[in-house]
Amino acid sequence: MNKEKYLEMTDAFLRQTGRDEIPDRITRDLRFCLDEQQKRLKEKGITLHDEFAFIDEAVTGAAEVSQKNNRTPFRGISAYRETVRIRDIYSAGKRIMHRREPVTFYACIVDKQGGGDVPVNCPNCGHASMASRLQEGCPYCGTHFAMSELYPRISSCYCVNNIVERTGLDERLKKVFLRIAAVFFVIFMIIVSVQNIRSGDYPIWAAELFAVLESCLLTAMMTFTAYMAYGFFLIGKVFHQFGSVLPMVTGLSSPGKLKTFMEKYDPQFFVRIFEGKMVSLLEAVLYSENRENLSIYEGNDDFSSFEGLVDLDYRGVFRLRDCRVKGERISVLLEVFTENCYEKGIVKRRNERILVRMERRTDAVTDPGFSIHAVRCGGCGGSFDAMHVRNCPYCGREYHAAADDWVITEIRKKS
Ligand SMILES: [Zn+2]
Ligand SMILES: [Zn+2]
Repeated sequence: MNKEKYLEMTDAFLRQTGRDEIPDRITRDLRFCLDEQQKRLKEKGITLHDEFAFIDEAVTGAAEVSQKNNRTPFRGISAYRETVRIRDIYSAGKRIMHRREPVTFYACIVDKQGGGDVPVNCPNCGHASMASRLQEGCPYCGTHFAMSELYPRISSCYCVNNIVERTGLDERLKKVFLRIAAVFFVIFMIIVSVQNIRSGDYPIWAAELFAVLESCLLTAMMTFTAYMAYGFFLIGKVFHQFGSVLPMVTGLSSPGKLKTFMEKYDPQFFVRIFEGKMVSLLEAVLYSENRENLSIYEGNDDFSSFEGLVDLDYRGVFRLRDCRVKGERISVLLEVFTENCYEKGIVKRRNERILVRMERRTDAVTDPGFSIHAVRCGGCGGSFDAMHVRNCPYCGREYHAAADDWVITEIRKKS
């Protein structure tokens, strides 16, 4: 496996995010989701800026995470980088959150044997180009397409909090505790010398000398206590994190179970593709202001509890709650572990589990080859992203492009 290639994709993603650009080597579902998020933030007058620090000696790597007994041409790769995420959120130009936290960033990448860019002719105007250039629509005639994904692509990503920022930790600790010691010393000096002088037992020079000695001793004791308290604080943090990670253990066997169930209907079913799609579509639906027009959402849920949602962080684990066939459709119910940012004047973060039901026709299968076809509205000839949007944005006519793929039929918070 070419680890370098995947790490490079991951780093490019982080750099582009830091420049407030939409990263380019991502699946179309993820792009759609990021677009919907940008739209929502813009409407609310909010700017969210994430910056990722590239630190020296960061732990990086890439590991294959394909499903067991993988017989598909797809490969799942998890690429990771230790970094510091600096997040700023502005509302109406005023900063309402600034957070700097050590994290490990994970990119879930899907690759395909014999994948990559292919030369194609625009099915509409015949313009010769690479498929990757046509993803956003033909640069000549503006036509949009329904086409296979061009792997490798990042299909989802998430951050795992680290307990401390490892790099330069010793230096920072030294600095902090030197400052604490200095403050303690000054306080003790004042208290002790005032006491000693007041008591009048010693001449002033002796009173001051004792005060210095006593203060040194007290400072040493208190600084040590503070250091111990910091240690307990870290242990507390570890337990806290452990407590929030523990329930996720129940989801560890879910990808395997889902694969076993789905293989009967779709031999090319690949869990990581499904997972990326599920997270992207879930987010897109939650951010969307116009859910009736999403072809990927057929539900009728109450979204009032998601009011103020500005960012959803997938925590990298889902749990399969139920999978069954209902009539001509496969229906799977998933519990998705997320950490979400809500803006209501101030920003609050919450760990939440969201129940998502996804459905697909039983006869729909993953096409491992490459296909492309132009999307044109039968009413007005307009061309648009018909994989995600139900109605032609020009004339309103309904277009059925996504009938073969997964749709979300239900979203609710797990209480
Ligand atoms: Zn064209
Ligand atoms: Zn139309």
